[in-house]
Amino acid sequence: MNAIQSISAQLSFDVASVPTDLYIGGQWRPGATGNRLDVVDPSTGAVITTVADASIEDAIEAVKVAHEAGPAWAATPPRVKSEILRKCYDLMIERREMLAELISLENGKALPDARGEVTYAAEFFRWFAEEAVRLNGEIYTAPSGANKIIVEHQPIGVAVLITPWNFPAAMATRKIAPALAAGCTCVLKPATETPLTAFALAQLYEEAGVPAGVVNVITTGKAGPATSAMLHDARVRKLSFTGSTQVGRILLREAADQVISCSMELGGNAPFIVFDDADLDIAIEGAMVAKMRNGGEACTAANRFYVQKGIAEAFSAKLAERMGALAVGAGYDSKTQCGPLINKAAVDRIAGLVADAEKCGATTLVGGKPLDRDGFYFPPTVLQDVTADAEITHQEIFGPIAAITTFETEDEVVAAANSSEYGLISYVFTSDLSRGLRVSERMDSGMVGLNRGVVSDPAAPFGGTKQSGLGREGAHHGILEFCETKYIAASW
Ligand code: ADP
Repeated sequence: MNAIQSISAQLSFDVASVPTDLYIGGQWRPGATGNRLDVVDPSTGAVITTVADASIEDAIEAVKVAHEAGPAWAATPPRVKSEILRKCYDLMIERREMLAELISLENGKALPDARGEVTYAAEFFRWFAEEAVRLNGEIYTAPSGANKIIVEHQPIGVAVLITPWNFPAAMATRKIAPALAAGCTCVLKPATETPLTAFALAQLYEEAGVPAGVVNVITTGKAGPATSAMLHDARVRKLSFTGSTQVGRILLREAADQVISCSMELGGNAPFIVFDDADLDIAIEGAMVAKMRNGGEACTAANRFYVQKGIAEAFSAKLAERMGALAVGAGYDSKTQCGPLINKAAVDRIAGLVADAEKCGATTLVGGKPLDRDGFYFPPTVLQDVTADAEITHQEIFGPIAAITTFETEDEVVAAANSSEYGLISYVFTSDLSRGLRVSERMDSGMVGLNRGVVSDPAAPFGGTKQSGLGREGAHHGILEFCETKYIAASW
């Protein structure tokens, strides 16, 4: 049995049925050079399969094809676009189990997380199917009374979409669905760690009736040069990126040359604040999901736990008990609650952060060391008395580590929570409604979870302040990111 056969034997579908070539103009192509990239199973460290490695010429070919498909797609009636998007939703739900297994296989996340991701990802198609027929403009009389002001939203043009490996389906659909609803065509470049989900979804879009050339998918080991070439092609008018702040900064510079519109979902360093008056059980449930959804590999993951003195002991003990009880194992094993990290580098980085926190004075309540087995495993870990000078306070952890600090006053915790260059999301737990809303408004972040550990919702505007990004995805805002506003001064 080869690798792909033996892994397929553990799943409900044949992994060899997932395409691995570039998807350009409705055709599957091996790419100009014929080079291939390994796709690794983080649960074992073994190579699952290989995918095509697009050259710069392939990337530009994808832009050309998207540009050619643009006018017909923009002119497609909103109702037709809407029904195609709705069909994408239906097909994703129909194939939820297969897609969830595929996500678990290439990303490592536990199956319940992967199923949740497929549902969340599919919802972007349902939501934007509804938005596609509600792209309303405005008409009003100019203050002078001389003319009418007509405002309408037009598709911005070819969009380059770049996505990370932590949500292989949802980060793609969160961009593709609004792009298509707005009437744009696109080139998606998924992370090379998790390309298979993007290819399986491309197959599904075709079945749903998305015309050839409207969505193109390329994988490449030369992300920098290939993206730079696309962002310097005059046919590209939009970049939507989800990934690290570090790469986001590079892409903003690249996009500057042609003044390309950018939507950026970048890193986070979420504070998770628990006041003495919080309901302990609600706070723990919130902490478990805000920290452990996706094994902590989420930009929305709780990074810095600030717990008020009176509840700190009870909160830390309970969180350590719950985190320590999670079953760690292969993502696609049905018993697993916490899968592996994405790769060895992630394990080493997190081990370094934990060791540094301990050196700065933190105590490890549970976990703390990588697991000695094949694959890339770091166990759920709770650190108490983490100091402000520890690296873990400043870096996005991206793993199952809860770093707890205590505080005394509201002003003190607000200042600590906001003392980060990131501003994606904050979590606040309290039974006092006025304090909850007051502190939520004082959080310097684009989103707040108030007595909730999950906020992501296709119907809500997702995005951050400061160096966490630009623009919003989801809600009505999401479709506007793919539109130009056209103003017509009209007299009649
Ligand atoms: P992460 O830390 O989640 O891997 P990255 O920002 O490194 O975040 O990667 C997010 C996406 O950006 C991936 O698709 C990756 O291939 C891509 N990427 C990385 N470096 C560059 C670059 N210089 N130009 C364009 N895309 C890049």
